[in-house]
Amino acid sequence: METTPAAPAYDVGAVRRDFPILDQLVHGRPLVYLDSAASAQRPRQVTEAIRRHYETSHANVHRGAHELSLRATEAYEGARASVARHIGASSEAEVVFVRGTTEAVNLVAGSWGAVNMGPGDEILLTKMEHHSNIVPWQLLAERTGARLRFVDVSPDGQLVMADYARLLSERTRLVGVTHVSNTLGVINPVREITELAHDAGALCLIDGAQATPHLQVDVARIGCDFYAFSGHKMCGPTGIGVLWARRELLEAMPPYQGGGEMISSVTLEGSTWAAVPQKFEAGTPNIAGAIGLAEAIRYLDGIGLDALQRYESELAGYALERLGRIEGLRVYGPRSDRVGVLSFTYLDIHAHDLATILDQRGIAIRAGHHCNQPLMDHFGVDATARASLYLYNTHEEVDALCEALDLAGELFCRSL
Ligand code: PLP
Repeated sequence: METTPAAPAYDVGAVRRDFPILDQLVHGRPLVYLDSAASAQRPRQVTEAIRRHYETSHANVHRGAHELSLRATEAYEGARASVARHIGASSEAEVVFVRGTTEAVNLVAGSWGAVNMGPGDEILLTKMEHHSNIVPWQLLAERTGARLRFVDVSPDGQLVMADYARLLSERTRLVGVTHVSNTLGVINPVREITELAHDAGALCLIDGAQATPHLQVDVARIGCDFYAFSGHKMCGPTGIGVLWARRELLEAMPPYQGGGEMISSVTLEGSTWAAVPQKFEAGTPNIAGAIGLAEAIRYLDGIGLDALQRYESELAGYALERLGRIEGLRVYGPRSDRVGVLSFTYLDIHAHDLATILDQRGIAIRAGHHCNQPLMDHFGVDATARASLYLYNTHEEVDALCEALDLAGELFCRSL
């Protein structure tokens, strides 16, 4: 009888060996890096691809007839093809390289928004959006007279889905939602939200900054109109990210910035635009960044996002269970349908003090509002501590976090 071979076990030790930065002492203790939601670390494969590019193939892209320029162009456009394949885009022309999620949202607001929004039109966001999916729309609203509305968040950190029925109307032009919350870790039902937006005649933009590091994203399956993400949160370099948009939308949108590379012709009287996506890539792009991002995608695909997600989900469950046993500690966000982004408050210890105490034990967490001030207001706190897990974290590191928190709690109680 034939048996299906078992999936190979996830080898976190082998993964860790790809990340040399993890192998160091901080304040005399092994580094425990729990800040990947802010920026993940890069595997050797990514830094080597960037080094190889600079040492063997660097030149400006698109313009040159010489060998190095051809090589650089091939690598840069090859990176675009890798991204397109990875996210299920129907064409490479739909992949615009930008600096990151922030720039991608600004591009949509500044270009699509400028010609599609007017007084009385509405943009429907949620109270769990990162500032980069709020502020560009506020700026647009100021310029156009449009209005922002917000879907509520439940006490356990999920979107109040009934609000979509209440707030969507013929005035709604755009629905914007984060795929995964950078504070609550919750995975939002973006496919369903896209359908609701489309039923109301609106477009849907998804902020994928915290999703692409962990989930296999397929824009065709989601059915959305815009999808934005950043390289540095998914093992790629800083300064590179992606705006994916449906081709016909990109073709109808005016340029976002003017300059070289984005034109078809220029006279003193006026200019015509290059085809998409170049129309949105004015100036010399981040060539090495795109190459590094493609390598990061190759790296994640090599591990397999399914295997990665299974491992992370088990690890997040373990962390939630251990943190749940610490008296006086509150974790924000749901128990399931989430990634390992764990925000918490603990007794009356300020999040910044917690982060400083943990740093003394080599443990890197983040403290603050996480660019989620409206969400902090919603929960009535000014800051949380946030430990974010990624593919290289271990159960022992979760133990180290909990032991350090126990100690911080003891010190705090003794000081009362
Ligand atoms: N959206 C979410 C959900 C994020 O977590 C972040 C970064 O923390 C951003 C957007 C902004 O990403 P970037 O700073 O890479 O543009």
